[in-house]
Amino acid sequence: MSGPEVLVVGGGLHGLSAAFHLARRGRRVRVLEAGHLARHASGFSAGGVRTLGRHPAEIPLALEALDLWHRIGELVGEDCGFRASGQVKVAESAADLTVLEERAAALRAGGYTHEEVVDAAGLRRLLPAVAPHVVGGMVARRDGFASPYRTSLAFGRAARALGAEIVEGARVIAAGRRGGLWHLRTADGAEHAAPVLVNAAGAWGARLARHIGETIPLGFNAFMMMLTARMPAFVTPVVGATSRPISFKQAETGQVMIGGGHKGVGSLDTGATALDVERLAYSARTALELFPVLAETRIVHAWAGIEGVTPDDLPVIGASGLHDGVIHAFGFCGHGFELGPVVGDIVAQLATQGFTNRPIAAFAPGRFGGPAGAGTGAALPQPAG
Ligand SMILES: Cc1cc2nc3c(=O)[nH]c(=O)nc-3n(C[C@H](O)[C@H](O)[C@H](O)COP(=O)(O)OP(=O)(O)OC[C@H]3O[C@@H](n4cnc5c(N)ncnc54)[C@H](O)[C@@H]3O)c2cc1C
Repeated sequence: MSGPEVLVVGGGLHGLSAAFHLARRGRRVRVLEAGHLARHASGFSAGGVRTLGRHPAEIPLALEALDLWHRIGELVGEDCGFRASGQVKVAESAADLTVLEERAAALRAGGYTHEEVVDAAGLRRLLPAVAPHVVGGMVARRDGFASPYRTSLAFGRAARALGAEIVEGARVIAAGRRGGLWHLRTADGAEHAAPVLVNAAGAWGARLARHIGETIPLGFNAFMMMLTARMPAFVTPVVGATSRPISFKQAETGQVMIGGGHKGVGSLDTGATALDVERLAYSARTALELFPVLAETRIVHAWAGIEGVTPDDLPVIGASGLHDGVIHAFGFCGHGFELGPVVGDIVAQLATQGFTNRPIAAFAPGRFGGPAGAGTGAALPQPAG
C-alpha cells in the first residue's frame, strides 16, 4: 500500500477533525499522537459550544461550526453529547448591561443577530435560580455544550472508518524536509514521510514550528475546572458573566461543572499539571454568588488541562509562510473546542486545494512577524503519554 499523503501531528480534537475531513476528501492521512487520543486540552475541556462573546474574527467560523454541531450525529455518526441548551452571559450591574447592549448593537451593525440582550425578567425565564442582584444578560439560544472526550473519539473513529491511520504512543521527535517529503521520526525510532505536514500539536505547536525554522509566539495555560456532587436540576443553559471569569453548566447527571479560565500550573516538558486551590476557591465563590443554591453541594473533583495561548488570544490557523506543505492549526487559547468541526475542514481545504473560502487572515501563522530560518533542529517536546 502507498504511504500517507498527509501526516498530522497531534491526536486532539483539531488533529482528529483534520484527519476526518482529509479522509472524507479521499486523502491518505496518518495521525501521530504522542500519548493517547484527547490526552491533553481536548480531553480536559469544559466542552462549551459557544458562539456567545466571540472575538469578531472568530464569529464566521464559530457560526459555521455551530451549524455543524447541530447535525454532528450526521457528520461523525454519534451525537457527541451535544445539547443545544443555549449559553447566557449575565449582567450583574447597569454597567455590565451597557457593555452587553453595546456589543449587541455592534454585532447587529455587522449583520449578526445570534446574541440577544434580555432584561431582568427575560433572564429569569432562562435562569430561574439566578441571584437577585443580576439585572439582565445576553443569550445565544442555539449554543450549548458537548462531551469533549466523546467528541474527540467520535472524530477519530469516523476518520478511521474512512481509512485514516491513527497511531497512538507516537511522539514526533524530529522533523525535516527531504526530496519533497516531510520526514518525521518518532521516539520509538519509526520514520513517517508525506508531502504534507499538519501541525495540530496544541500547546506544543510552536515547538514543532520552531524545530522546522518558524517562530510563532505561544505561551500556555493550565486551565482549571471543578465538578460538584449531583444536584436537582436548577440550570439549563451554560452560564458566564460579563465582568467576572466564570463559566458553568449542569450536566444531565445533575453535576455542575465550573470553570472560566482560572489557571493552575503546568509543564510543557512533562505535560503534568497542578491545581491552584486558592484560584479554585475564588471561582467556586463566584459561582455561589450567582447561584446561591450551590451552597447545598460540594466539589467532588477538579482538574486542569494544558492549552496553548497566543499574544492576541486568537488561534494559529493557516499554511506556513515559510515552507511548502506545512499547515498549522494550534494555540486555540481556551476556546477551540467549539471550532473543532470546522477548522478540520479548513485544514483539509488548505492541504488539498491550497486555499480556503473561510476568512482566516486574522489567524495567519506569520502575523506576529517572528523570524524564520533554516530550522533549529532543537529537541522536540515530549508531552506526557
Ligand atoms: C480546562 C479547559 C476547558 C476548556 N473549555 C472550553 C470550552 O468550554 N469551549 C471551547 O470552545 N474550548 C474550551 N477549551 C479549549 C479546547 O478544549 C481546546 O482549544 C481544544 O481542545 C484544543 O485542541 P487541540 O487538538 O488543538 O489540542 P490538544 O487537545 O492539546 O491536542 C494536541 C495533541 O498533540 C499532541 N502532541 C504534542 N506534541 C506532539 C509530538 N511531538 N508528537 C506527537 N503528538 C504531539 C499532544 O499529546 C496532544 O494530544 C478548554 C480547554 C481547557 C484546557
